[in-house]
Amino acid sequence: MITHIKVIKTGKAMQRPFLTRSGGSFKKQEYPITCIELEHTTAGKILIDTGYGDQFLSRLKPVPKLIYGQLFIEKEKQKIDQKQHVKSTYDWLILSHFHPDHIGGLSEVTYNQLMLSKALNDLIEQARLLQLRQGFFKELVPKTLGNSSYFEDERTIECPDLKLKGYDLFGDQSILAIPMFGHALGQYIFYLQTIQGPVLLAMDVAWHIETITDKLLPKKVTKLIVHDFKEMQRNIECLAQLHQRKPELPIFLSHCQNSITQLLEWDHKNGGAVVDYQEN
Ligand SMILES: [Zn+2]
Repeated sequence: MITHIKVIKTGKAMQRPFLTRSGGSFKKQEYPITCIELEHTTAGKILIDTGYGDQFLSRLKPVPKLIYGQLFIEKEKQKIDQKQHVKSTYDWLILSHFHPDHIGGLSEVTYNQLMLSKALNDLIEQARLLQLRQGFFKELVPKTLGNSSYFEDERTIECPDLKLKGYDLFGDQSILAIPMFGHALGQYIFYLQTIQGPVLLAMDVAWHIETITDKLLPKKVTKLIVHDFKEMQRNIECLAQLHQRKPELPIFLSHCQNSITQLLEWDHKNGGAVVDYQEN
């Protein structure tokens, strides 16, 4: 069982909502970069994703550094190498997918065990250009990962709530990892059982909660930065249907401030004992 969820904002990226949801403004806006800290009754302290980390840009080779900096970071470039990491020691580190804003701090986080998708091996084998097209920078993955295991080796269970199958990460159904590869190869979302009821961490399935609740879909041009646009549309549709069936289920998205606000409101309404928010 999950007793505590802390949303940690480790930084921000600038992007145009015009691209990431229909009706969004052309003016660049701040998108939070987040990771999630969980307290589990028996597994201990769990971190999902690392944020960019402290030395993200300086770890990249010159060309990817230039391209990535221009596309996603721009003027924030100078600030990106400062205090973007999480400081605690974790029993478990879980990676939702392999984009730099989720794994950039991988070599800076202290953890005992790592859990991730086998898709990392497929990404590592790919040609450099294909990797860059997928937003994968192998220099962000340390040579040795320590104790690690794969989601795909855990027991699969059917989740009647969601009408989806997932991997039962700790054998107690407290965290179900569900594949949603549209946004990125190897992306998993997480269905949590907390002491206040279920919470869905939908990570980067969409950039905005309104994409799921009001069908404000991303523009087709985002094809260029996602793994499989059609699959992304199916993933969004799946969560949109889930939201219609269960409007009370809070859905967190990594880069959507409104989804964080809604998660905090859900917590407040249900006793206020589970969710915390921290800005680094
Ligand atoms: Zn991503």
